[in-house]
Amino acid sequence: MAISGEDFDVIVVGAGIMGSSTAYQVAKRGHKTLLLEQFDFLHHRGSSHGESRTIRATYPEDYYYPMVMESYKLWAEAESEIGYKVLFKARHLDLGSSDDKCLRNVIETCHKHSVPHAVLDHQQVAEKFAGSFDIPENCVGVFTEYGGVIKPTKAVSMFQTLAFQKGAVLRDCMEVKDIRKDGVRGGIWVHTSNGEKFWGKKCVVTVGAWTRKIVKKVNGLELPIQPVETTVCYWRIKEGHEAKYAIGGDFPTFAFYGDPYIYGTPSLEFPGLIKVAVHGGYPCDQDKRPWGPGMALGSLKQWVEKSLAGLVDSGAPVATQLCMYSMTPDEDFLIDFLGGEFGKDVVVGGGFSGHGFKMGPVVGRILADLVLCGEAKGVELQHFRILRFEENPKGNVKNLEA
Ligand SMILES: Cc1cc2nc3c(=O)[nH]c(=O)nc-3n(C[C@H](O)[C@H](O)[C@H](O)COP(=O)(O)OP(=O)(O)OC[C@H]3O[C@@H](n4cnc5c(N)ncnc54)[C@H](O)[C@@H]3O)c2cc1C
Repeated sequence: MAISGEDFDVIVVGAGIMGSSTAYQVAKRGHKTLLLEQFDFLHHRGSSHGESRTIRATYPEDYYYPMVMESYKLWAEAESEIGYKVLFKARHLDLGSSDDKCLRNVIETCHKHSVPHAVLDHQQVAEKFAGSFDIPENCVGVFTEYGGVIKPTKAVSMFQTLAFQKGAVLRDCMEVKDIRKDGVRGGIWVHTSNGEKFWGKKCVVTVGAWTRKIVKKVNGLELPIQPVETTVCYWRIKEGHEAKYAIGGDFPTFAFYGDPYIYGTPSLEFPGLIKVAVHGGYPCDQDKRPWGPGMALGSLKQWVEKSLAGLVDSGAPVATQLCMYSMTPDEDFLIDFLGGEFGKDVVVGGGFSGHGFKMGPVVGRILADLVLCGEAKGVELQHFRILRFEENPKGNVKNLEA
């Protein structure tokens, strides 16, 4: 156990997927690492808990494609190191109106990166998936081999275990209340609310929905990262068809580019139930969560009733779960040095905007590169800069209320 006052090479604050994979990456390279978490490890009050997250290679923004492909590789490496699986492969289907801008960009990304894909009309979609999807005539599907489902809590636990095995020190129930520069010796002091303090040469801040709060406290910068409470919905598969929609079969992970954006995964976590949910939610205070009553589900219900009529029992979801997103105005990540008096000694990874989990391993690699080497190769970091918020504070804020 770390003792107050002990020195480290790198202190990572926040033990969700991003902090845990960063701690693993840093410790693996032989650096003395401390991972601090404000709540119990594997708690359910942030963004990285639960039973399933989609991984897909198709993105409207082409700079995410290389990151996802690197992540697939790093997920597999970590799985083989720990000896169990956290990622379950599936194929992926993007749906939407043929003139939808995002879907057209998805197709362009596939062309640009030579991703094998098939563009299917509404009839071909119905045929390929044995009538599971019933989409309007003006809609198309973009089908690729690169989908999958990750088990989030198990994955976070995997990276924490691997970090520990590489020598990292892990402490939970340690809320970081301040990060200060050591003006005499150099490096960083990390103070916790229970009165402990740790010195590190460098620090990585991966605090999810708490990013705005901690950054404001540490250097006064007001980041437009908005916590949002979202509701995950599970629907009962029609009796007798459960096996057809289970992971490992032909049924893909999918996304519908529309208003709202809807996504789904094959059945995995709860036998007989399938996850179909809306990418969106209600702005909230991360420290005073409403914990429901949840989002208005009218448009999701309508979509499920119309488009998945052959798959699920109509009506309402049979189970729901709550979780938090941390949204940036443009829905791109924040991965950058904190700057100011901290220069390159403090790196921030946040604002993962409801689509970061799949990239946990690559984000950990990038944050470790930044904090240890001052640069990260193989990624277009200009999209994730902290200064973009000052240049364009509102960005293209999307309506998150589903
Ligand atoms: C319902 C839902 C569905 C999603 N689906 C997908 C998906 O299909 N595919 C995908 O790629 N992504 C998905 N995401 C997004 C993904 O889960 C998140 O982007 C990712 O989990 C963010 O991880 P994080 O480590 O940044 O944040 P978190 O998991 O919230 O971790 C931050 C940690 O920092 C801790 N912390 C905060 N403040 C302090 C402090 N002062 N001191 C110490 N510790 C602190 C917190 O307690 C927390 O544990 C989904 C998210 C949700 C909620």
